[in-house]
Amino acid sequence: MTVPQHQGATPTGISRRSVLTAAGLTAAGTVLQGSWGAASATAATAPAIFYSPHQDDEAIGMAGSILEHRAAGRPVYLVLVSKGENGGIAQYLNRTPCVLGDKCSAPGHYHELGWQESWPTPEVVSARTSEFNQSAKALGVDKVINFKLSDTAYGTESEYNAFVKQIMNKVRKLAEQYPKASHKFAAGWLDTTDPTQPTNATHKACSDAAYWLHKNGELTDIRFNHIYTYEAFSRSQRNRGADYVLNIPSAHMAKKRAAILAYNTWDPNRNLYTAGYHSVPTMLEEAYSDPREFVFGLPSHYTPGRGK
Ligand SMILES: [Zn+2]
Ligand SMILES: [Zn+2]
Repeated sequence: MTVPQHQGATPTGISRRSVLTAAGLTAAGTVLQGSWGAASATAATAPAIFYSPHQDDEAIGMAGSILEHRAAGRPVYLVLVSKGENGGIAQYLNRTPCVLGDKCSAPGHYHELGWQESWPTPEVVSARTSEFNQSAKALGVDKVINFKLSDTAYGTESEYNAFVKQIMNKVRKLAEQYPKASHKFAAGWLDTTDPTQPTNATHKACSDAAYWLHKNGELTDIRFNHIYTYEAFSRSQRNRGADYVLNIPSAHMAKKRAAILAYNTWDPNRNLYTAGYHSVPTMLEEAYSDPREFVFGLPSHYTPGRGK
């Protein structure tokens, strides 16, 4: 396994906010069932189901919450929502010299893999999914579920809406199968300062699916982890607006770091090519060094849709 090469993130100035109480939250957000942390007496043995939009999101922004729920005795199921087709990753891994320079973990920082850069980028999907499975193993989840949905969130608006419906159908089946489960999504609406332009349409589609199912009364216990906060905000700003800041215990942080390392491991024998690290190096580094995760309820004025 490759040791990550961190940029000089300093641990000074970290604002360690204590866990907020649920009582202060319902005024601002939609009233939701369930608890903010992992403890839930009424649903102690019902699974907590985490929906990672892409391979890497679970390691970056959900791993601490996953471990929190496992430690509370909850079964944890980890869902990979999209296949993660991404031609940009193929371009990076087809190219020498590498865009990462000396930070690249490939031997000699050399790689001309010849992967298909056009849709549906089969080698990228395969390598990213190997990383995801390795990450899931590091986190010790009870079940891995792969929706295998083609990521059409960036297509036409009708393709986006169809993608949301596909997610809804898959989530609905799990909700029917596990009626007391809690459901954890990405807080995709937070990834932009312009509400009409989500930074990551796939993440927003996951939020939208949760929103519609909640509105229909099909999902009650829903939470959202903010993934892109590690890239979008400096450390002191990351807790802004969060309903619950999880301070990850060191034993759990060690496992989270092992999950992150799955995305920076060069081992072609195991189909591991550091695809994640070539895709989002800064987010992986920042999440590796910041022992917090940021959990939100559904905002009272949520706006579904990808925007124009
Ligand atoms: Zn993602
Ligand atoms: Zn490289």
